[in-house]
Amino acid sequence: MQAAIIAVGSEMLTPSRVDTNSLYLTEKLNDLGVEVVQKLVIGDHRPRLSAAIRFCLEQAEILIVIGGLGPTEDDLTREAVADATGRALVFDKQLVAAMEARFAALGRKMAEINKRQAYVLEGAEVLPNARGTAPGQWVVLANRQVVVLVPGPPAEMKPLADGEVFPRLAKMLPPLALATLTYRIAGMGESDVDARLAPIYKQYENPVTTILAKAGDITIHLRAQCAEKAEAERLIEEVGAKIRAEMGNFIYSFDGAPIEEVILRRLVAREQTLTVAESLTAGMVGARFGSVPGASRAFVGGMVTYNNGQKQALLGVDPWTLAEHSEVSEAVAIQMAEGAKARTSAHWALSLTGYAGPDGGTEANPVGTVFVGLAGPDRPARAKRFRFPAGDRERVRLFALHAALNFLRLELEA
Ligand code: ATP
Ligand code: MG
Repeated sequence: MQAAIIAVGSEMLTPSRVDTNSLYLTEKLNDLGVEVVQKLVIGDHRPRLSAAIRFCLEQAEILIVIGGLGPTEDDLTREAVADATGRALVFDKQLVAAMEARFAALGRKMAEINKRQAYVLEGAEVLPNARGTAPGQWVVLANRQVVVLVPGPPAEMKPLADGEVFPRLAKMLPPLALATLTYRIAGMGESDVDARLAPIYKQYENPVTTILAKAGDITIHLRAQCAEKAEAERLIEEVGAKIRAEMGNFIYSFDGAPIEEVILRRLVAREQTLTVAESLTAGMVGARFGSVPGASRAFVGGMVTYNNGQKQALLGVDPWTLAEHSEVSEAVAIQMAEGAKARTSAHWALSLTGYAGPDGGTEANPVGTVFVGLAGPDRPARAKRFRFPAGDRERVRLFALHAALNFLRLELEA
């Protein structure tokens, strides 16, 4: 089965709004085995909206129209669906009574204009909206196509879709079992990951593979849908095994957990602790560890040592080393890690220093160069040099963060 979604509202065409409702609906539709084949965003304009509805009904068996169900003149979804499908709008007196009761319960009198919301497409089922006055509508056309109208505000749309729309769709569709798998990868660029995995996942239409990349952190998601659960799981395992064989220990997570959580789990298992000393990331690494519930079992805290004075004062970095090698150097990264470890008594210390840009850098170490230092319980501290694409300051910092976390992760696996 295929579905189309139309998000209605001129505000959805402005730079300050984005159609998030359709993302929510798409995920739930996919779970039911329905593929979303097109999405449109249309302003509050009756002819354009009815043209869009006709167009979608040429492409898909299911059409969900979001928004434009309010009481005001610019809410035109009911009228546009009537135009496009040739169904009349019928005034539903019961609905008016229910709406008036809703206002009365809040100690208010319903405005006359709200009666617009009581027009229902001929033959439609009214879908009660517990969070607002505009009910949804479910219409089955003569050729079995389904048109669903849901309100725009996400706080109304989501419960209405979950409570009324998806159960009806599920009844219409053959039952499908779903199996999913999420692996996460670090230490390899997005295009390299894709080059290595495409020959595997391109062989399969089921499971569907998606790869999401974020500056050095890549998530691979597989979803298989079959009539039988066992078959879906078998397919997932078949493709999953090939991916594991190809990617080896570039995969850091087999359950979707982020890398900071994987690291903390390992440290807790070893009964060891960690600290961080950050220059260019200025607390981003610490914040990641802090976001994991129970982080205090292994993460002791850390230091933001942005300028050289703080690198000396808080970490004991040697001024001569700073003068000779500059603050972005292997020697300083090592001293930062050693200093953080010594001053906190943690078992492990991770340090970061680099040029985030957009300006700065040297000929030898241009913008995008980052040194990550690591001090551990039973080896001398060492550092690794990374070189990330320059230009976007936040992206360089994010790459540095992920590279540092992966450096530690690999060390803990060794
Ligand atoms: P209302 O009774 O509030 O007018 P409505 O069904 O007419 O309900 P809209 O006027 O289209 O809904 O949208 C109301 C608000 O809901 C919008 O300003 C926007 O903030 C949010 N909204 C609408 N559509 C979407 C969407 N597709 N994704 C995310 N938010 C949306
Ligand atoms: Mg509205």
